Amino acid sequence: MTASRLDGRLCASAVENSLKVEVQNCMDSGVNPHLAVVIVGDDPASHVYVNNKVKACERLGIISTHISLPSNTTESELVTEIERLNADASIHGILIQSPLPKHMDEEGITDLISPSKDVDGFHPVNLGRLVQGRTDGMLPCTPAGVIEMLKWANIETEGKNAVILGRSRIVGMPMSLLLAAKGCDSTVTITHSRTQNLAEVCKQADILVAAVGIPELVKKDWVKQGAVVVDVGINRVEDLSIERGWRLTGDVDPDVAEVASWLSPVPGGVGPMTIAMLMINTINAAKSTI
Ligand code: NDP
Repeated sequence: MTASRLDGRLCASAVENSLKVEVQNCMDSGVNPHLAVVIVGDDPASHVYVNNKVKACERLGIISTHISLPSNTTESELVTEIERLNADASIHGILIQSPLPKHMDEEGITDLISPSKDVDGFHPVNLGRLVQGRTDGMLPCTPAGVIEMLKWANIETEGKNAVILGRSRIVGMPMSLLLAAKGCDSTVTITHSRTQNLAEVCKQADILVAAVGIPELVKKDWVKQGAVVVDVGINRVEDLSIERGWRLTGDVDPDVAEVASWLSPVPGGVGPMTIAMLMINTINAAKSTI
């Protein structure tokens, strides 16, 4: 078996096309959706992510304000910036690009964003709603993007065994909640660094989502024949055979394609979907002000 490609670029482009009319509807009601993206420091990968988000806004006619602060910004200066953005009625979404410099409390900072502008979906109010099974609010973009991609490919989730590698606040845990929620109805197993016999647990999965951050951790013999495998990982590994000296790889060994029915590529899988979901959250935040 060679896995079909769970193509995040194609799916994200379909989502974006459906959003253009939504942006127009907002504008017709006198509201131009507006996203503020705040980045602190000079991490090159983070700047690439922010630029991709800004470009997606441009494609859709969403206003974006890109606020770039130096790495020596103090936490109280960042808090002041967030308070200013919270109070600005013309801004509908606020995104603080992760990771923040080490001297800042990233979770504490997230908590300060007004839940109605929390387009990353990380605020305790929005994550709390998800725990309650309310999936109609501001959902974390990466896991919501995975769900959208599964729907787009007509992959059945009801009654399936889903195994999630990773239990982070931003990917693994909300991914588990979304797959277990009414509507998706999977039977979910959450795994992490203390899980025993990880390979055997993974082998039970009809749907396997890897969000660990370890290059090519998931091997072919961890995966059941015909399983759907979603690779969330984005890892930069040295590759001296190409001019820039590095390449991106996921958490899943590419050989998994020999046994899986579907496999999402890295890059071009979950990454573009994360941005598409950010656009949805921003438009929904704008719509809620009409
Ligand atoms: P975190 O580091 O926050 O979480 C990693 C999780 O993996 C933790 O729960 C950890 O367990 C678990 N883990 C670590 N080692 C192992 C192991 N050997 N076996 C099983 N579980 C393990 O990472 P994130 O969730 O933020 O990100 C995960 C990956 O996804 C990264 O590569 C990141 O770059 C990528 N990512 C991609 C996005 C996209 O848009 N495509 C968006 C966000 C992230 P424990 O809790 O016990 O420490």
